[in-house]
Amino acid sequence: MNRDEIRQLNKEFESVSADEILHWALKYFGVNNIALASSFSIEDQLILDMLLKVDKKAQIFTLDTGRLPQATYDLIEITRKKYAISIEMFFPDASAVEAMTKKKGPNSFFESVENRKECCAIRKIEPLKKKLSTLKAWITGLRREQSEARSDVPFIEWDEAFGLVKINPIADWEELDIWDYIRNNRVPYNRLYDCSYTSIGCAPCTRPVKKGESTRAGRWWWENEEKKECGIHIKDGKVVRKE
Ligand code: SF4
Repeated sequence: MNRDEIRQLNKEFESVSADEILHWALKYFGVNNIALASSFSIEDQLILDMLLKVDKKAQIFTLDTGRLPQATYDLIEITRKKYAISIEMFFPDASAVEAMTKKKGPNSFFESVENRKECCAIRKIEPLKKKLSTLKAWITGLRREQSEARSDVPFIEWDEAFGLVKINPIADWEELDIWDYIRNNRVPYNRLYDCSYTSIGCAPCTRPVKKGESTRAGRWWWENEEKKECGIHIKDGKVVRKE
């Protein structure tokens, strides 16, 4: 798929629904060559519900960092049972985690941005690369409304960092629309959203947000705002935050 085709598709996708984009993507790439990368956020749960309505055999995978909140594991289990699906889970390389924790302890990410990036690379990026290397396209829940850095997220793009096409079917959705869909379709969601969490990642690196704080304030809260990144979504050499 070249740049002109991607540009043309983005134009066409401005006037079609998210499930039509998913329908097109599954047909174009084939169900074995495309997958939803889910962190079990409300966005990813919405897409999972839509995707399975398009094709029950659609692939869904997640990254089990080994440090997720119990509520996320519970949601994975609830989702598996509700939809009667299997969710592929990718784990960090045990020897890399062992070496890191032996040298720096289990909570090294609190000590410096470098340590935190090292932990995210071992627990998230490397397992993600493993799955993406088997695909022609991946599906994400990125939305333009989520942050300044995401304000121009397209529906479809070439993912330079991982070398495959990235589909963002709900790029133009707003948070209220997401919750409407979740409630109207009885989609299970992470119970931490009911406890003032607005973005949920690993347990030690996530806290609830206070009134007036940005949705990202609870992630890596001990770091400066501009340092917050996990490296999963990179565009033009810059990190586009997600989760
Ligand atoms: S979010 Fe925290 S615990 Fe999870 S991989 Fe990144 S630094 Fe490690």
